[in-house]
Amino acid sequence: MSNAPNDIAFLLSALRFSAEKHTHQRRKSEQRIPYINHPIEVAEVLSREGHISDPCILAAALLHDTVEDTDTSLNELAQHFGEQVAHWVAELSDNTCLSKQQRKQQQILNAPTASIVAKQIKLADKICNIKDITYAPPVGWSLERKRAYLQWAHAVVAGLRGCNPRLEAYFDQILNQAQQQLG
Ligand code: ZN
Repeated sequence: MSNAPNDIAFLLSALRFSAEKHTHQRRKSEQRIPYINHPIEVAEVLSREGHISDPCILAAALLHDTVEDTDTSLNELAQHFGEQVAHWVAELSDNTCLSKQQRKQQQILNAPTASIVAKQIKLADKICNIKDITYAPPVGWSLERKRAYLQWAHAVVAGLRGCNPRLEAYFDQILNQAQQQLG
């Protein structure tokens, strides 16, 4: 991995930007941990399991939920972090005009045509969400709802395959553990 000071500074500024945007959000688990832990974990999985070291990709991972879940615009991301990062985040943002069910369907349909970078970030996102749903689930989720999430994530990931074999193997391992846990 390159340790160029500019790369580190770039990554840290993406982390700070994302932390500020997600300041008032919490994960839906009982522990109500700060939302920013989620994008940090996604970037960590990309780095540790997917061997990704490109600071632009890791920055896009840190920022992946800012447009969908906060007041951040794509223009703002482009200004701060460049067009490429903004483009990847756009690919990772659901169309919030659609219903929850339509958005879930769109993710399955759009997965195969996403860029290779967006595919890898999406895969890491699903890995982290499956872990959360299994070990720190959102308050009030029934077993059926958790199982339905695993099935849906499996269907999305079917369209992401071929982007990063290490990450795909890790997804399979995490899904397997989750399925055993949830029966
Ligand atoms: Zn996410």
